[in-house]
Amino acid sequence: MRFEHDEWAEISELVGRLMRFYDSHLHLCECRRPDQIVSLMEFNETALLSAGIDRATSMKTLELSKLFPKTVVPFIGVHPSEAKGDDASWVQDVMTVAAGIGEIGLDPRYSGSTRDQLRIFEEQLGYAERARKPVQVHSRGAETECLDALGRYELVSVLMHWFESERLLGTVRDRGYYVSLGPAITQSKGLRRIAAAFDGDRLLTETDAPVSFRPLDGSQGPFLVPTVVFELSRVRRSTFEETRLQCEENAERYLHLGKG
Ligand SMILES: [Zn+2]
Repeated sequence: MRFEHDEWAEISELVGRLMRFYDSHLHLCECRRPDQIVSLMEFNETALLSAGIDRATSMKTLELSKLFPKTVVPFIGVHPSEAKGDDASWVQDVMTVAAGIGEIGLDPRYSGSTRDQLRIFEEQLGYAERARKPVQVHSRGAETECLDALGRYELVSVLMHWFESERLLGTVRDRGYYVSLGPAITQSKGLRRIAAAFDGDRLLTETDAPVSFRPLDGSQGPFLVPTVVFELSRVRRSTFEETRLQCEENAERYLHLGKG
């Protein structure tokens, strides 16, 4: 389903100004029927920072962003789960048309050598540094190692996606990195403490779709972003609209820092 522009304008006049949301980290190419998800989110003015996990999903993400340039913000890269053997030189070849590099990082729970993961992570950090592109970082179970690697590069804009280490939050803050929180905030006291303690101007919202959340009825997808905004507003004792607007400003700053 796609809404034609005239139809969209008419509906938007009926309901008033739509609120813009950002899903700052998800994987459209791993969702079922991504084009229909994007059509719905386009209508709702939700921006989707969609990350690849390997070459094939990154290319598909770039294709989706051509079809839906207002809505899909493409990130390309090699996820730690896919970091085996080869290098990631293809990232350098196509990165000019991507908004950023992600999802990249380290995770000891995936098979494959940690040395390969680190080599491919650092290779991509080097590309991001030279091209002044934002990065989306996966650091589960390897937060210290990720921060060590990140510290070796001059990066314009870093998102620590679904960051769970309260102990290292100070380092993330001191470096001016961003942290994104997803629907798991509704079930995790640790994430709520991070949401309350971290700087408001560095918080982003995400869903990591197609990851699903059982307490939310197994729901998944970017339409859960308002739920995250609501939970953030409760934790940070601000209004829903103040929180939404702050997250919008943060996401735009995160994305555009590199553009001079
Ligand atoms: Zn992810």
